[in-house]
Amino acid sequence: MIEAPRCTDCGCPMEWRTVDQEYERQGVRVRLTGLPAMVCPRCGAIAFDPDTTDHILAAANALFRIAGDRHKGVLAAACA
Ligand SMILES: [Zn+2]
Repeated sequence: MIEAPRCTDCGCPMEWRTVDQEYERQGVRVRLTGLPAMVCPRCGAIAFDPDTTDHILAAANALFRIAGDRHKGVLAAACA
């Protein structure tokens, strides 16, 4: 059995959950929802695995590119 990774802040075992992340750049906001992450049930710290982090940043950058400098609202992408 694989032991759950522990929170680097408080040492509590982390749990897999889905989380939302929002990024803002020059007045444009993008939101990614339903992202798989490990969450600390005690202090709420969030950790993504390194592969996932790369993909999340790539997805956020893609949304910023779509928005260009015309879009002033929120772009959202979800993985369900
Ligand atoms: Zn914690």
